[in-house]
Amino acid sequence: MIILKLGGSVITKKEAEEPLIDHDNLNRISGEIADSSFDKLIIVHGAGSFGHPSAKKYEIGSPVTDEEDFARKKLGFCITQSWVKKLNTLVCDSLREKGVLAVSVQPSSFIITKNKRIHSCNLDLINKYLELGFVPVIYGDVVPDLDESIKICVLSGDQIINYLGENLKPMRVILGSDVDGIYTKNPKKYEDAKLLNTVTSCDDLVAEGSLNVDVTGGMNGKLTELIELAQLGVESEIINAGKENFVKRALNHEKGIGTIIKKK
Ligand code: ADP
Repeated sequence: MIILKLGGSVITKKEAEEPLIDHDNLNRISGEIADSSFDKLIIVHGAGSFGHPSAKKYEIGSPVTDEEDFARKKLGFCITQSWVKKLNTLVCDSLREKGVLAVSVQPSSFIITKNKRIHSCNLDLINKYLELGFVPVIYGDVVPDLDESIKICVLSGDQIINYLGENLKPMRVILGSDVDGIYTKNPKKYEDAKLLNTVTSCDDLVAEGSLNVDVTGGMNGKLTELIELAQLGVESEIINAGKENFVKRALNHEKGIGTIIKKK
């Protein structure tokens, strides 16, 4: 089994203030997936510009101050859920048009968090889809939270990767992003940032100002999830899905074309 993440930075125009798909990347990557050989595959995608603007605007996941604030946040929940669902439909359609048997799996219909971490999530459905030969496509979403102070929160695709990785023990976990891998610091800001072949701890990065913080934690959040997963014995690799054939090469078992996150 392979778990493949398609970063919001790759399949959407992430910096856009409005939801904007990157059709070229999405269709090319769908084609690469269709051309690859795999037995079981789960695709997880990020929300990018389909989720972040409204999640941020309505401050989903921050403490609820009063009834009025809660009503506003619930409206934001509905809006965000609707946008990321639209993105998921576009992703599944693109995959299916290229010949991948993609089925949609909506986190907010079966996952509950507690203090922003997955608390209940029954994987029977995903396992059944895999057994039947489908490719489940799950994604970053908004979900209810058991914590009384926040009540709802954003669940990142990266946390889903961590959870699926821990519970399904895949052979490979591949994360496609818009950079070549993990650098010593943010390569979009610092020219002297150096690409790392392997990372075993957040300490491998220059802490100060190096981490991109979005509503789901950016590279810092991603790396924290992946290091936690590596400690459980599940290695992962971040590759540049913006580059032609990288997703295909990684799915076809090529290793080391990005940064490998492994146990210390
Ligand atoms: P995605 O949407 O692909 O899941 P994010 O946008 O959350 O990923 O994170 C990728 C972004 O993180 C890159 O575009 C890059 O600008 C930023 N970033 C910050 N620090 C680093 C770093 N040390 N190495 C690589 N990328 C970094």
